[in-house]
Amino acid sequence: MDSQLSGGFLKHTLFPPSNFIPSSITLSNGINVSHNAIGVVEITPPKADKAIVVSSGIHGDETAPIELVDDLVSSILDEAFRPTTRLLFIIAHPDAIHAHTRFIEENLNRLFAVKNPVRNKECELANELQAQVQTFFAKGCEEPWHFDLHSAIRASKHYMFGVVPASSKATDVRPLVGFLKASHMDAVMLSRTPSSTFSWYSAEKFGAMAATFEMGRVARLYENDMGEFVPLREALVALMCSEALPAPSSEKGFSSYKVTRTITKTDDAFNLAFSDDAANFTYFAEGEELAEENGTVFSAIAGGEAVVFPNSKVAIGQRAALLVQPFEPDLSEPLYVNVEREPGPIAYSANHSRSLS
Ligand SMILES: [Zn+2]
Repeated sequence: MDSQLSGGFLKHTLFPPSNFIPSSITLSNGINVSHNAIGVVEITPPKADKAIVVSSGIHGDETAPIELVDDLVSSILDEAFRPTTRLLFIIAHPDAIHAHTRFIEENLNRLFAVKNPVRNKECELANELQAQVQTFFAKGCEEPWHFDLHSAIRASKHYMFGVVPASSKATDVRPLVGFLKASHMDAVMLSRTPSSTFSWYSAEKFGAMAATFEMGRVARLYENDMGEFVPLREALVALMCSEALPAPSSEKGFSSYKVTRTITKTDDAFNLAFSDDAANFTYFAEGEELAEENGTVFSAIAGGEAVVFPNSKVAIGQRAALLVQPFEPDLSEPLYVNVEREPGPIAYSANHSRSLS
């Protein structure tokens, strides 16, 4: 092949030649492998029924997903399996991976709302990734999917969970929920407000079945227990090969949540009523205090609420916590993840979106 990829996708991404130029080859099984950019490999079979983005390394210290993506690309190059879907594999932020850090200057996963003025490396990367994904989805009319793979940076009552962004597109996400179950994830969280994450970008701009996966715990490269990711890998390969998905786990349950509220910090006086390192999905009974800011107290609403991604140290105007409640969707009906409305069988914002875009 492409001698550039023969040493591995991750190695090339971390130690690219100074004279990189895009190249492509066709494997003996008819699969085209195109090395579009440093950290971006595109797979094109002769015929495809889905177009799937699998991204990793948006946060440089979340390394298990990076190893998984590297392994999947190697397996395709070795012809260990033959995809029947178009694929775009991404290892996003080599500088942050080298530095063992989440980001260098700015959180890359907040930079997908607009084309960014280039004030730092993350802005440059976000613009490049937006362009790669746009070109990838524009090439065909297959069903668009996007898995943006992350590792959790805090303890969680659910070890592996998917966050489905709210979007104004009428995308029935039941197949995505089915995939999360097939990959033996522990939970799904259906969002309520638009965000500026990579998975939101694909959901909002292209109507993709998109989710951010929060998995396991942060560890150094090659110090991850990749055994934890075997069910996800098997489900991904099945989806990529248009095969039946594995059965859900018979041992562990699967929980569904909807976001009820976002707590936003509006002043330096903001305080959470619990520790910043509280585990994701820590539950608070109705009336229990969650946060306080200049005399305004936030308490859990009727039915209680669980807290996800709490952080009192965010900048003023940013999200300090998400609050969620268990939610059992009726999967005999479509499931839309609506903006500022309940998730459910009615796509409230589908018409609204046309006037927005
Ligand atoms: Zn992350």
